[in-house]
Amino acid sequence: MTKKSVVSERVLVSLENSSFIRAMFEEGIALKKKYGAENVFDFSLGNPENEPPLRVRELIKMYASQDDQGIHKYMPNAGHSDVREKTAAYLSKETGVEYPASNIVMTCGAAGGINVVLKTILNPGDEVVVFAPYFPEYFAYVDNHRGTTVVVPPNPPAFQPDPGSLAAHINPNTKAVIINTPNNPTGVVYSKETLQKIAEVLSTKEKEYGTNIFIISDEPYKKIVFDNQPLTSIPQIYKNTIIVNSYSKSLSLAGERIGYVAVSPLIDGVDMLMHGAIYCNRVLGYVNAPSMFQKVAADAQDESVDVESYKKRRDVFCAMLKELGFELTIPEGAFYLFPKSPIPNDVEFKNIALKHKVIIVPGSGFGCPGYFRIAYCVDMKTIENSKTAFEAIAKEVFQLS
Ligand code: PLP
Repeated sequence: MTKKSVVSERVLVSLENSSFIRAMFEEGIALKKKYGAENVFDFSLGNPENEPPLRVRELIKMYASQDDQGIHKYMPNAGHSDVREKTAAYLSKETGVEYPASNIVMTCGAAGGINVVLKTILNPGDEVVVFAPYFPEYFAYVDNHRGTTVVVPPNPPAFQPDPGSLAAHINPNTKAVIINTPNNPTGVVYSKETLQKIAEVLSTKEKEYGTNIFIISDEPYKKIVFDNQPLTSIPQIYKNTIIVNSYSKSLSLAGERIGYVAVSPLIDGVDMLMHGAIYCNRVLGYVNAPSMFQKVAADAQDESVDVESYKKRRDVFCAMLKELGFELTIPEGAFYLFPKSPIPNDVEFKNIALKHKVIIVPGSGFGCPGYFRIAYCVDMKTIENSKTAFEAIAKEVFQLS
């Protein structure tokens, strides 16, 4: 008799399909141990190198050193009431839609927020649509709550989602569509025209099937936008919108696990939805978002990491890659590049890069083979020092093809 695995069958399957990003990150740690950190060029993970802005660090010190305020206690599961009020006020200004504080749930980052939303809305077998290339964790999150992820194929080279293709992937079981702009992994900002067409498709399908289809707008990169690229307010153009935001990238607080869910006041049955989301935040075991960081984030809404410094890194990296013959669309936001793999097999290309101690993630990990992702949220020196390695890679691959 064969012995049963110590982990469940579902987890066993998930582990086998586990993320390329984490695998590459682990690979980077091993390489750095072997060759020294300065000799390895790790562009695998969206883990910002920059420290949080000064004001954020001051707020952390201030809240940590205050006496008698009960800041380390439990509070209502949705978060501190003053934090929810400040968040709602800021979001109302930003989106042009009036959010009451009661529509905000503070969460453990965007990851926690998306899980809260999915647990709140999904029945077994409900479908959640994502656009490739996608943030691969969406699959695990949807599976956590017994849903099925449906993928709309990529639309290169500009990577604006194709509304016609979206329409072909909607059916009466579609419960939500996840939109992520500025996008991980492409850095692309979805245009107003694209988003309006998506909204039209979904409204038409809702009428046709008599269902609600939610847009889950996953917005952790909202503040990292270059060249005055305008962002479209999704709740202004689509009624059934649930925003999920996070301070992981905008304030470089990824390890502190702080973000929020904001449910549009225009949704029919919003009170029940909030009731469900607050309950789910509790029973998923989060209980509430980290207390002190709720306060810090609420007081730092106007703050942002230095976007200009990301833009400089983008420009240096793009110029370097273009000069070496790589094909890529210049991204307008986030801190990722998504160039075309110079050989058709992006996994093989990842291995070639690895030989030169450059760690990138193959596009296959994001549902988009034939491309690769570079996370350039590292210091400028790492980017500049990687030039020789990229030259060697280019020499090797362009001779191959
Ligand atoms: N959504 C996207 C598109 C991301 O890139 C990430 C993190 O990289 C997350 C969600 C999760 O972010 P958080 O740290 O806020 O949980």
